[in-house]
Amino acid sequence: TEACLSQIETSGALNAFVHNTPEIARAQAKAADARLAQGEAPAMCGLPIGIKDLFCTQGVPSQAASAILDGFKPEYESTITTKLFDAGAVMLGKLNMDEFAMGSSNETSTYGNAINPWRRGNEDTQLTPGGSSGGSAAAVAADLCLAATGTDTGGSIRQPAAFTGIVGIKPTYGRCSRWGVIAFASSLDQAGPMTKTVRDASIMLEAMCGHDAKDSTSADLAVPDFEAMLTGDIRGKKIGIPKEYRMDGMLPEIEKLWDDGAAMLRDAGAEIVEISLPHTKYALPAYYVIAPAEASSNLARYDGVRYGHRAKLAQGEGIDDMYEKTRAEGFGHEVQRRVMIGTYVLSAGFYDAYYNRARRVRTLIKRDFEQVFAQGIDAILTPATPSAAFGLGEMSESDPIQMYLNDVFTVTVNLAGLPGIAVPAGLDAKGLPLGLQLIGRPWEEGDLLNIAHSLE
Ligand code: GLN
Repeated sequence: TEACLSQIETSGALNAFVHNTPEIARAQAKAADARLAQGEAPAMCGLPIGIKDLFCTQGVPSQAASAILDGFKPEYESTITTKLFDAGAVMLGKLNMDEFAMGSSNETSTYGNAINPWRRGNEDTQLTPGGSSGGSAAAVAADLCLAATGTDTGGSIRQPAAFTGIVGIKPTYGRCSRWGVIAFASSLDQAGPMTKTVRDASIMLEAMCGHDAKDSTSADLAVPDFEAMLTGDIRGKKIGIPKEYRMDGMLPEIEKLWDDGAAMLRDAGAEIVEISLPHTKYALPAYYVIAPAEASSNLARYDGVRYGHRAKLAQGEGIDDMYEKTRAEGFGHEVQRRVMIGTYVLSAGFYDAYYNRARRVRTLIKRDFEQVFAQGIDAILTPATPSAAFGLGEMSESDPIQMYLNDVFTVTVNLAGLPGIAVPAGLDAKGLPLGLQLIGRPWEEGDLLNIAHSLE
């Protein structure tokens, strides 16, 4: 804990931690020592970790990297952080992210973006750690903490993991409680661990998940011993390679990464099968209707009355002015754009044309996966991202679609509620990490982690 705290002090330039909690960390570390002395050894005992700013942590600023939550300190602890602390984990502080988890580069954060500790060749260009869990990824990659929590609505654990050469798993929807995790798009949001290795991810995921009566979508299922499932034996597993993911304009290095990953799995005894997920090309548009729709509804609560920032009013201005000014001042551009898109697609005249149609597409995407799993496929292998980490400012704010295209390989998993993991799979020609993604059957995270382990 002390080593991490001093690393955090000296690594300020990465802008990964946005609120440090050294007093809490030291108290938790002492308590962990006491537990060990009493012969207790819970899974995360004394392990210093970082918490994404999207998690409510009691008495500690929890702002979702938004100015609208300025000064907000929750009265309560999220279920996931409670579970991690019960398992002995030590909280070093809160981690940077895109505002309300909307983004793929960490550039929408009110704190300014976190920075990727990796460099492209010997260029000085600062690179994005990805988003939205960019602070978590940068902190783990730079050894500021042993592990971090992330959340993933459309790829926000897997894409930053791939950009920084670490492991990140989004579990099956319902595996981890959403209680106390600030909502973005409730039918897609899932939390998960971001770690250096698949083994660490297995241990931390087990500590994070389990049924929670406070989240009505939380699954009442036993939590397996994920670590015990890391046998390294994947003989006879059927791995699907979806032909629709081989998109036009795919970078040769990404294609090679994918082929090499398939070869590694084949060498380990798996059977590689070409599969088809025919509705893949509709996933990104469906996601960018459903996610903003749910966000516009979830973010309606930030009205200046209940939490955080409240705008100053001029003489004669009333409550409507207060709402309007507070939201204009408190929300950044990307969040405002999503709220407007979401409100539009949910409005009476357009609900059927956009929102309902996107929901129907979502069902078709889910069915694609059900069909391949029914054919005996155990997991699906794809690249995690269309490229290695890009430079900060390289994707222009005026063309959000360019940024949205980053999520092309990751959003299908959220729409279908499936588990997905990103594992580091080598470096590109300029020495930047690239990640592979494995998609698993629902509730089969143990199997998925074991297959991912064989790619390490
Ligand atoms: N990049 C995607 C978005 O901006 C995904 C974000 C996430 O998973 N939270 O919506």
